[in-house]
Amino acid sequence: MKPAREPEHLRTLLRRNAIERRVRQLGRQITADFRGQRLHLIGVLKGASIFLSDLIREIRLEVSLDFIAVASYGQSSRSSGQVRLTKDLDNSIEGLHTILVEDILDTGLTIAYLQRVLLQRKPRSLRVATLLSKAATRVKQVRPDYVGFEIPNEFVVGYGLDYAERYRNLRDICVLQLPAGR
Ligand code: 5GP
Repeated sequence: MKPAREPEHLRTLLRRNAIERRVRQLGRQITADFRGQRLHLIGVLKGASIFLSDLIREIRLEVSLDFIAVASYGQSSRSSGQVRLTKDLDNSIEGLHTILVEDILDTGLTIAYLQRVLLQRKPRSLRVATLLSKAATRVKQVRPDYVGFEIPNEFVVGYGLDYAERYRNLRDICVLQLPAGR
């Protein structure tokens, strides 16, 4: 007989109201920083899609949008240390004020890689906005310009973040406690 699958436990870390408030503040800050300018947001698929869709509606500027995708974590909760582009931008960013929008900054490998790729395309400026940041696990020096929340070094899901493609639809951000051995 197959052993029963042990349950995965979710513990709420950031409630939907706190996320909503913080995203509104970030939108106001970005609006003030780029007043009178056109802005281009680049969302990193798929995790940043929910954050980006809320953030863009809090920015009171002329703003355009594009997406890029990288492969990193795959089906595991641990970083492979490898980053590769799996979907490129649709449009040129040359001469544009751009903000790279990420869900979470962990080791920094993903953002460091994307900054390198994007700077070669000569944007007028390139900033980084990340909803979450785990400062304790950084291996690459990356200084994000906008950070939603600093969080402890735990694996989180919800509000766009997944574990093996699940939990992206949770409204809160939760710590996922996996059964031993996974
Ligand atoms: P980094 O390259 O900075 O180590 O990791 C960035 C990417 O790793 C994120 O875009 C995200 O896909 C994944 N990641 C890092 N930490 C977590 C986490 O706690 N939960 C989830 N769901 N993904 C994470």
